[in-house]
Amino acid sequence: MSTETKAAGNGKATREQAERAYMGTSAPKSLRSAESSPMVSGEIDLTGRTLFLPRMPYGGSRLLGAAMESIGIETRVTPESDARTLELGGRFTSGDECYPQKVVIGDLMKLLVDDRLAPKDVAFMVPTANGPCRFGQYAALQRLVLDENGFEDVAILSLTSADGYAGIGEHAPELVRTGWRAVVANDILMKLLLKTRPYEVEPGQTDQVYLDGLDTLAAVIARPGVGHKEKLADMKAALARVKESFLAIPVRKEERPLIGIVGEIFCRLNTFSNEDLIRRVEEAGGECWLAGVAEWIWYTTEERFRRYREEKRRISRSWAVTYLTQRVQLRDEHALMHDFHDVFRGYEEPEVAELLEYSKPYLPQSGAMGEMVLSTGGAIYLHKKGADGIIDISPFTCMNGIITEAIYPKVSREHDNIPIRLFYFDGTQSDLDRDVGIFLELARTYRRRKKVTRAV
Ligand code: SF4
Repeated sequence: MSTETKAAGNGKATREQAERAYMGTSAPKSLRSAESSPMVSGEIDLTGRTLFLPRMPYGGSRLLGAAMESIGIETRVTPESDARTLELGGRFTSGDECYPQKVVIGDLMKLLVDDRLAPKDVAFMVPTANGPCRFGQYAALQRLVLDENGFEDVAILSLTSADGYAGIGEHAPELVRTGWRAVVANDILMKLLLKTRPYEVEPGQTDQVYLDGLDTLAAVIARPGVGHKEKLADMKAALARVKESFLAIPVRKEERPLIGIVGEIFCRLNTFSNEDLIRRVEEAGGECWLAGVAEWIWYTTEERFRRYREEKRRISRSWAVTYLTQRVQLRDEHALMHDFHDVFRGYEEPEVAELLEYSKPYLPQSGAMGEMVLSTGGAIYLHKKGADGIIDISPFTCMNGIITEAIYPKVSREHDNIPIRLFYFDGTQSDLDRDVGIFLELARTYRRRKKVTRAV
């Protein structure tokens, strides 16, 4: 099924709706009706709608969209963000929301206000989760922004593992499996991209191979009516072809500092939000290792097991479902990664349990939650893998970033003084290249004296 939008060819929002949205109400008045909205949770009928997915990252959303297409949902990744995104995002938020939310709402409103897609033809996917921060509020907030600006007919698909992805309905188990494979496939492609692009001889070639790889994988994942076994075999074959394409890219032999990238999940994966920081690091002479999306899925599973333990629910149906899902996901991940151990030598992803162990002296899992735990553990893991510096990408005022920023000096002191720097983003950076250049100098200095050597 095509990833092209169907809504673009359908009816338009009324002029009144568009103008009201453009000129009128901006930030929602309150969260009063959020819980009663029929479109915030529960099963959504997506028939006849195009489901838009936020970019986190573009490739991951593209492949997740393909997984959804395999069960008959028409999807599209939201168009690239730009200055208009921030203008509309600012207009429809109060200023208290996190930067990712401003970007997501701005992109959403661009489709409704500027492109004037018909609300009845549109649905938006908003991931949600309970956690220590404002993230859990944003699906409800988006519902309110839409309702208060005349877009009541837009559907919001708010997926959460807490209800077994009930919003998808009867196809949820199928989507969970294919969607997971899509996540793993994109993490593999992203890893290939980041370890090849800094060394390419011909500028732009690696990006092109990555985009072609996404096309190849998306076509395989989106095929409907294919059994899990056959789909896995098809994906492995497609990944093998993509791997060959990456290995065929001419590269320079060159030594570059390796910079680990951790931080808030949306901001670190969404290139608009982080002002393409990874590319800037590459241009300044570095190579990046970006924490992927699978890590977050493993973490949420670990969290569920922790809660089962604490609530003494280890012998329960939901524990068994979580356990079996984890086993199946582990098997799928091993199968897809199997042919990549050679190219990823020295770039092995950590087990989440290992990250939790590393972060324990600073932020124990039982007392802290979310990216702050993973970023702290991730920084230590990357130090042990021989990274030359760690960058944490976080939105300005992000609770996770505020806490990790306070902890990193101690983490650095206790790990050979590896340079760790937090870059905050809110769309107003002034001299990012200068700051990246300074950080790369620190990383080069550390590299000359570091005790851990890389296994590559
Ligand atoms: S992780 Fe940070 S940026 Fe994301 S919702 Fe929570 S506080 Fe906001």
